[in-house]
Amino acid sequence: MTNTPAFPTGTILGYPRIGRRRELKKAVEAFWAGSLSADDLEATAAGLRQSTRERLAGLGLARADSSIPESFSYYDQVLDALCTVGAVPTRFAGLVDADGRIDLAGYFTLARGEGEHAPLEMTKWFDSNYHYLVPEIGPETDFRLASDRIVREFEEARAAGFLTRPVIVGPVTFLLLSKPSDGAPADFQPLDRLGDLLPVYAALVSRLAAAGADWVQLDEPALVSESIETPRAEVLGAVEFAYATLGRLAERPAIFVAAPYGSLDDALPVLAGSPVEAIGLDLVRGSIPAAVPGLSEKTLVAGVIDGHNIWRGDLAGAFDAAARLLDLSPNVAVSTSTSLLHVPHDVEDESSLGADLKGWLAFADQKVGQVAALALGLADGRAAIQPVLDAATAALEARRTAPGVRDGAVRSRAEALTEADFSRGDYAIRLAEQDKALGLPLLPTTTIGSFPQTGEIRRARAQFLKGTLTADEYRDLMRAEISRVVDLQEEIGLDVIVHGEPERNDMVQYFAENLDGFAVTENGWVQSYGSRCTRPSILWGDVSRPKAITVEWSSYTQGLTAKPVKGMLTGPVTILAWSFVRDDQPLGDTARQVALALRDEIADLEAAGIGVVQVDEPALRELLPLKKKDHAAYLDWSVGSFRLATAGVAARTQIHTHLCYSEFGVVIDAIRNLDADVTSIEAARSRMEVVGDIQSHGFDHGIGPGVWDIHSPRVPSVAELTELLEVAVAGIPARQLWVNPDCGLKTRGYEETVASLRNMLEATRIVRAEL
Ligand code: GLN
Ligand code: ZN
Repeated sequence: MTNTPAFPTGTILGYPRIGRRRELKKAVEAFWAGSLSADDLEATAAGLRQSTRERLAGLGLARADSSIPESFSYYDQVLDALCTVGAVPTRFAGLVDADGRIDLAGYFTLARGEGEHAPLEMTKWFDSNYHYLVPEIGPETDFRLASDRIVREFEEARAAGFLTRPVIVGPVTFLLLSKPSDGAPADFQPLDRLGDLLPVYAALVSRLAAAGADWVQLDEPALVSESIETPRAEVLGAVEFAYATLGRLAERPAIFVAAPYGSLDDALPVLAGSPVEAIGLDLVRGSIPAAVPGLSEKTLVAGVIDGHNIWRGDLAGAFDAAARLLDLSPNVAVSTSTSLLHVPHDVEDESSLGADLKGWLAFADQKVGQVAALALGLADGRAAIQPVLDAATAALEARRTAPGVRDGAVRSRAEALTEADFSRGDYAIRLAEQDKALGLPLLPTTTIGSFPQTGEIRRARAQFLKGTLTADEYRDLMRAEISRVVDLQEEIGLDVIVHGEPERNDMVQYFAENLDGFAVTENGWVQSYGSRCTRPSILWGDVSRPKAITVEWSSYTQGLTAKPVKGMLTGPVTILAWSFVRDDQPLGDTARQVALALRDEIADLEAAGIGVVQVDEPALRELLPLKKKDHAAYLDWSVGSFRLATAGVAARTQIHTHLCYSEFGVVIDAIRNLDADVTSIEAARSRMEVVGDIQSHGFDHGIGPGVWDIHSPRVPSVAELTELLEVAVAGIPARQLWVNPDCGLKTRGYEETVASLRNMLEATRIVRAEL
């Protein structure tokens, strides 16, 4: 590179791709269903990209200076990078042409599986609720520039009058997020292939230069995360090598390396010493770095607008942070801290949120406006945007003192808590009392809570919402469903009965709707993975429980059976993780408030005669901070909030928890500290890996390693279930073991549910007889 083009003064790292009305979701699903052709899907996608560019320009990002990122994806950005560099695993070889290219149908097969093709594994993207697809890289991976989609999208924009900035996952992050392919030697690491991957990135970058791109954005979030297993020195060496290699190219656009989700720490000097032209800093999670050699020659892209939450926030503070970077480099630009992928499109699409609350919020479009304003301030001086800063400060002030944000009763209760409120007392005593109270057999059988959500259930809920079904009619329909589900469980022979959760739209939103301090949106959809979107609730004020939530349903259920019924609640950490949470106090304080509301709910369940209560915490692992130094504080408040919610019960009441994932070893200490009487977790896919974890780390409470992988409609055979149970019994004392599926059955159909549960019970009988 000879002349570096100027970096735009304001930009964002990425924009939601699903569409304001989830147009992309609908089109993609229509394509899967066969009712939309590939050409029509591409036309819809092109239309969406064009309206996004127009919208971003309308909100203040310039058309012709690379400030608009081209961050579209049909499904996932890691999958896109995989297809771009030709890294389709050999097990999908039949889907790829001679040049390594894969068509749209094949692309979706990688993501979703089809016939004999199991999909790529999916996992959480850093500490967000977005999931990416995990590339499988081995010595056999034949890297080549197999897709020019990124170039074509750049050209498409250009033809429409926009000079955009193409975005792709950077080479180091791509390999660090990959796993070794099945046949790879034991000592192989995907990062070993960096030298072979870089020529492909080089080819891509050169193609972009030839097409006229001034800037390209390479996302390297893996550099901020300490949960990457590769030794740090190797990561830093890879960064140095990668950007020296790409930087050396004669024909290339200027390179912007973005590092969202945390501070770069020791990776910053490496990037500062490399030939890249711009570095993105997440100043929401991280702080202003110290000066390091080379930094003053880079454009510093100040990620001061939070891409991870929905608050309008402290705009003046954000401006000051960006301005302070001017001490480090004369070239500073304003940006979001992460892609706006994690937030909904537009506050203006919400008609039922209160005017006050709306004034405190900024969704993607409002955040773009904030970026544009701050960029103007950097260029023309603070005075030029003083009114905008003042308006945001006034909204913040109003929020501080608005009714509901601080509730004296909630606060004094939280302040009065003592050590004893977090502790249930001796496990041995609890165990003895629970044995007496519940009278369960060895290897007790149960499910995780939900039963299939049928079309009828969804229709009834929709009609109730519309008002065409009265509350009484709705309740009767749900009760009929519960009664059916109880009969079914009795008939199959399960030991601990659930009500099936028919009345819940979603395990978090249901509680948000029934607690004070939360609001729910109409159009606040956020991509979770592929075409799957969630609508997180907004936790804006102090949380309290106006009245009992689940007690009526659970006691109705208990009235139908002589067997113990398990009450079902979502835990405080998961409620926080899957909502947009207030940013004006520590998460731990908010978790405590939610915990106290749940504690009251559990007390009411107990008083109503419910002897088993499950508090689900599938998000415990997800919120684990990216930096190790933050782990202890996180585990302290997260585990503490679970204990606070559950420690109010008598010794005879059995507390269960459920964690979806199988990385038991990673969080074993935390799970032990939850002090639940019984923990159910995923184990079928990992073939009972957890048994080894328990043997090596030790765990003496009840444990239900899931034997049936409920993520697919496949019915496991009695033989296969028996074998899994035998593995469990061989490694864990039978006294501790429970028998259950991996997760809730909400997304399954009845046919496979009944068949699988029958097989599960049959396998249990066989293994009990062998004890
Ligand atoms: N109790 C919930 C259910 O069965 C748990 C769901 C989950 O773990 N994600 O649906
Ligand atoms: Zn689960």
